Amino acid sequence: MDSIRLKARAKINLGLDVLGKREDGYHEVRMVMQTIGIYDRLILTKIPEEEIRITSNLAFLPVNENNLIYKAIKLLKDEYHFPGGVSVDLNKFIPVAAGMAGGSTDAASTMFGVNRLFGLNLSMGKMMELGVRLGADVPYCVMRGTALAEGIGEKLTRITPVPHMWILIAKPQINVSTRLVYEQLDMGGIQKHPDIDGIIRAIEAQDVVRIAQSMGNVLENVTVPLYPVIETIKQDMLSHGAINAMMSGSGPTVFGIFPDEQTTLACQAFLKKKGDARQVYITENFN
Ligand code: ATP
Repeated sequence: MDSIRLKARAKINLGLDVLGKREDGYHEVRMVMQTIGIYDRLILTKIPEEEIRITSNLAFLPVNENNLIYKAIKLLKDEYHFPGGVSVDLNKFIPVAAGMAGGSTDAASTMFGVNRLFGLNLSMGKMMELGVRLGADVPYCVMRGTALAEGIGEKLTRITPVPHMWILIAKPQINVSTRLVYEQLDMGGIQKHPDIDGIIRAIEAQDVVRIAQSMGNVLENVTVPLYPVIETIKQDMLSHGAINAMMSGSGPTVFGIFPDEQTTLACQAFLKKKGDARQVYITENFN
């Protein structure tokens, strides 16, 4: 096998809580993660040259050593010394710097692809262990599905897969730096933490309405005052039939959980026309 085609899937957070700041600067989190249908397409091809080459459909995306795909290949090359190099053709559909782990999922899929192409025989657990060196969300992106993420996001426990959900994703035309959002989070000033265990119980009960109503993201305390458009999109989703709407990760992407396809389509049409969000996609959970 010389080439492999992969789908690197995005995630949303059904719940995101921050418990505190660690001495090393990282934050201790508790998050309910869910893979969704939106994906980037990657084609990995073996090349005889000792090189890592990346091409992408987005001109502004770095294709050098700053790209997480590059870092993933370099990490496996340094660890396992396989012969030759890899060229990667990336077709990006996941919104960038959006709170949907786009870079992390590309890195996870790249590890999966290199493992197969070069017959490294790495287990999923080993790839998760290596992946955390690339980013806190990478182990989850290797694992996928419905999971509780603790520690800095790398301590993962699989939970019962969520039942089918209609999800509308809307990304406003702003870019939010994950690092900046965490830096600005004032732990002392948080009025209310999301009930992560309540979300898990709702998932175990397989009750979509209860899952949606239990959702919460503590990082909205930082991003909503900074970018009021996030609240505007949430309110638009709620007034157009969403059971609930929330920001994903550190934002600015907002997602809504809808009762059926028709309501989701109608809200998508409304948001597209209104224009606060340029990227508005309908998707479903991917377990
Ligand atoms: P998270 O949800 O984990 O916080 P995010 O969705 O907010 O991630 P990404 O889309 O992963 O953010 O990208 C953040 C930054 O990482 C971008 O500004 C981009 O320049 C850089 N980056 C490096 N590699 C990639 C990649 N393969 N895809 C997207 N962005 C990448």
